[in-house]
Order: sequence, then C-alpha cells, then structure tokens
Amino acid sequence: VCEEHADRPWFRYWPPRILRRMDYPRTPLFNLVEVSAMRYPDKDAIIYYGFRIKYSELWDSILRLSAFLHDLGIEKGDRVAIYMPNTPHWVMSLFGVLRANAIAVPINPLVAPDVLEYILRETGAKAVITLTQLLPRLLSVRDKVPSLRYVITGRYRDYLPNKTEFKLPQLMLMDPEAPQGAINWKEAVAFNGNPPTVKVTHEDLAAIPYTSGTTGIPKGVMHSHGTMWASTLNAAVWYNIAPSGIVLTVLPMFHVTGLVHSVLVPLYAGSTMVLMTTWDRETVVDAIERYGITHWTSISTMIVDLLAMPGIERRNLSSLILAGGGGAPMPEAVAKRFKELTGLDYLAGYGLTETFSQTHVNPPHRVKIGSDLGIPQPCTDALVIDPDTKEVLPAGKNGELVVRGPNVFKGYWKKPEETKEAFIEIDGKLYFRTGDVVYMDDEGYFFYVDRIKRMINRAGYKVWPYRVENILYMHPAILEVAVVAIPDPRVGEEVKAYVVLKPEYKGKVKPEDIIQWARERMSSYEYPRFVEFVDSLPKTATGKIDWRMLQEQERRRGGGQ
Ligand code: AMP
Repeated sequence: VCEEHADRPWFRYWPPRILRRMDYPRTPLFNLVEVSAMRYPDKDAIIYYGFRIKYSELWDSILRLSAFLHDLGIEKGDRVAIYMPNTPHWVMSLFGVLRANAIAVPINPLVAPDVLEYILRETGAKAVITLTQLLPRLLSVRDKVPSLRYVITGRYRDYLPNKTEFKLPQLMLMDPEAPQGAINWKEAVAFNGNPPTVKVTHEDLAAIPYTSGTTGIPKGVMHSHGTMWASTLNAAVWYNIAPSGIVLTVLPMFHVTGLVHSVLVPLYAGSTMVLMTTWDRETVVDAIERYGITHWTSISTMIVDLLAMPGIERRNLSSLILAGGGGAPMPEAVAKRFKELTGLDYLAGYGLTETFSQTHVNPPHRVKIGSDLGIPQPCTDALVIDPDTKEVLPAGKNGELVVRGPNVFKGYWKKPEETKEAFIEIDGKLYFRTGDVVYMDDEGYFFYVDRIKRMINRAGYKVWPYRVENILYMHPAILEVAVVAIPDPRVGEEVKAYVVLKPEYKGKVKPEDIIQWARERMSSYEYPRFVEFVDSLPKTATGKIDWRMLQEQERRRGGGQ
C-alpha cells in the first residue's frame, strides 16, 4: 500500500523516504528481541519496581521457556494463553510461546469467568501461563476446557527486588505459593533443554487477542508475525526512538496498544522498559524522575488522573520527549493542560484490536490538536464511506472509517461470517470496516465523531451493552433493560442500565440491589454503576428497544445523576 495512494492529502506529511522504505521484516516476531539481545546483552531490557533484567537474561529466559513448552509437547500452531497483568513473566511468555512456534492468546486478567472459559474453549488452548492470584479463577473453569493440559503459574515475587522504594500494590504483597496441579514458573524458565528448531514464517499466526462484538460474543482477532511486525515498525517510526530511550510500560499488555507501544517498540529499539503492574500516579511520577522516562503511550484517563495529582506542578517531568495515546478521545482541555505542564503536545492516535493498535497517529512534527486520530500511518490507506450506500465520501463529511494496510488482521478465529462482514471491497481492494464514524479535513487529518457499533468505552476498556443486558435479563426482577453510556469526566463513559421491573417486584428492589447483583457477575469495568427504574422503554417501529433514543437523552443531559 506504501505508494499506492500518493494522491491522498496526508501523504506529504510523512517524509517520503520513510514511505518508500517501509520494508517490513519477513522474519518471526521474536527476532526483534533476539537481535537486541545480541546488540545490547548487558543493557537493561526491563526495570520492574527496581528489579533489573538485562537483554541477555531476558533472551535466555525466553529460550528456556520455549524449550520447556516444546518439551511439554506444545507444537507449531498450538494455542497458549497468557492470562495475567503486566509483569516480566508476560513479556517472557509472549516471546517464549512464539519461539516455541505456538500462538499466544492474551487474556484480560479482569474478564468475567464465563468469558475466560469461552476464550479458552474457542481457541482450544493447550496451556495457560498465569500468576498465582488468578489461579483459583482459572481452576474454576479448567474442567470445562477439555483441551487444557498444562497450567504454568508464576508469582510477582519471582521478579521483585528484595527491597524497593516504590509503593507496591496490595496484590503483590499477598503473593501465595503455587498450589498443586500447576507447574511452577521458575521450573519452566530454568529448564535445560533445546529450544525447537525455528519453523515459522512471517505469515504464520502469532497472536489471537480477543475483542468483543456487538452481539456480545467475544471474537478472536487473528494476527500474524507479519501484521505485528508492521505495527511495531510503524509505531517505532512515530516514536522516533533510540536505544537510549526509556519507555514507561503501564498500559495493559494484553491490549494491542500497550503491547505494541510499550513492549514491542522498546525491545525492538534496544531501549529500556520501566514496567508497572498497575496504574498509580505517585509511582509513575517517581519513576519518571528516577529513570528519566522519555517515551510514554497512555490513555486519556491516565492523563486526567495525573493532572489532578496534588503538587504535580513541582515535579520534574522534563525527561519526557514523547507522550501520546489513543483508545478513547482526548478532551482538548486536558491536552492543553498537559502541554502547560510538560511543554509537550499530546500525540493522539487511533486504532483497534483488528489493526493491532494504531492505524492513525498525529506525527510529532505536525500535530493537530483536536484531531483524535491524526493521519494514517505509513503504508496505510483510509477512506470515509456512507455506511448505507457504501459510497466514498469527500473531505468534511461524516461517515464510517474503513482502512487498509499491513497490520490489518487475517480474520476472526473460527468466525468466517463475521470476517466476511468486517470487510468491504472498494475499487477492487478490501478495506476493514471500523464501525467508527469520523470525518477527514482538507489536510487529511481525521476527527472522531461517533460509533456505529454499539459499544461503551470506559477508560479504554470496551463494554458491550448486549452482553451486559443478557446478563441483567437473568435477574428475576427485571422485565426489560437497555444499557447505554453516560458521559463521565473521569473514565470518559460510564455504564448505565434503564430497567423496567416486573410488577410484583416494584417497590421491593432498589437500584443498589441490581448494581450489587451485576457486580458479582460481571467484570469490574463492565457492570452498570448506574441503574434507573422506568415504567417503560421507548420502542422502534419494529418493536425493538430504542436504545439510541435513550443514548441521545443521556448525551443531552451531559452525564451525572
Ligand atoms: P479496541 O479494539 O479495544 O482497541 O477498541 C477500538 C475502539 O476504540 C475503536 O473502534 C474506537 O471506537 C475506540 N478508539 C480508539 N482510539 C480512539 C480515539 N483516539 N478516539 C476515540 N475512540 C478511539
């Protein structure tokens, strides 16, 4: 795609040499860390709350883990799930799985047990790598996943320093011993055996991250070594990062943006990752000052929280040379305050799980404040179409964003129908339909308008109303329910449920009861924080619940209850 669309308005904003020379590697993805380990063996690849892991040590653990997996019988194409929050284990697991020629399935550690079970069953995962804190939840679904043969479990303590000046999250302090039935992580990374001979190509599948769908049923997004390489190189061009870079890794790695920007790019560049398990603004500011962090990809809600920190004006953030992110819109006022504080333009970008993170970014040399997307990255084409007539729309007109490029996914795992529906042919070429409504200005910068797909974006965690409604319908008191987003200054959007009670329950159930009930059955980010009882719900002409009308009503109200 690199030079196919030289007539597009944004084309001139990337230096032409970059566009012509985007020669994406045709090697397996683990090469990126292997090469850095050869070039910088003694350099710190990861700093975890003060614990340092050199590139040579990282690569050694990856090789040992891959040999261990091979010895267990993991073969080419087998799926191995990675189910844990950000830790050094995560990084080693990803590359260990890839080096064993297997496919990594990253799983959000916060997902509800039914989703965990669904993903493990659908991918037919043979092994799961986890942490002891998550083991009880994993074991509770183990029997329902016939393919699952091995569970490998680590502890935070495996990579924490004996003494650290950082405040450690509570969950790390309570670090139970691994119970029976699981393989100890330490055994896996100490294994003395031969890693398998490499048989993968850049076209082989490397990872299946999960996203949900408007139907509420999770979809596995198939990415190859090649699509992940392309995303990594494009992000590295945007980051303009040197081996001396120090990257803050605080976005979750199970999500593509965290993985590309905060793991793959720094390891490719031979720079150092300052890795954190949870977001805590005090720890982040301490780490920026102590290590001289230079690059940071975040989500707008982190910046909102950072700016609200008492005394932030007196802290030294001057080492930062690039800060940006996406996943949710960045309010202009927040970007402005961030610039006042750091002198940096917040570089907004846009992407999806299907494109393994960014399709659009604001280039550091030509930022447009207010453009939530920026311009298409190198070798990427983007059009705005009328979602009904499929006609390509001119600049200035709102329509659905469709994209084409080297990091677009290969299809949904075992879902050929959904895969077909996700693409549209324009001028003989296939474009991926994003389900987002945008417009492009005359210079080729894109602006976020709305969504066609029914989704709620809570601090970057995507909530799928159909799923929330389906679970709420199991509540004995609920007759009808519609779930919508309400604007929220802290997390962007909050989840709200409009509920019609069955007559016999009126006056006997309170909104708090429903919230508590939902909290016990859904992920921490997806249960409704607000429940409003109504006598009836608006319906469309065909008798369906008109959630759009309720959604509009909430927007007009502007949030708050
Ligand atoms: P995910 O697959 O979880 O990465 O979610 C992708 C969705 O996040 C997109 O389809 C958008 O709706 C939303 N999104 C990503 N980046 C932005 C952005 N910069 N502004 C607004 N929404 C965004």
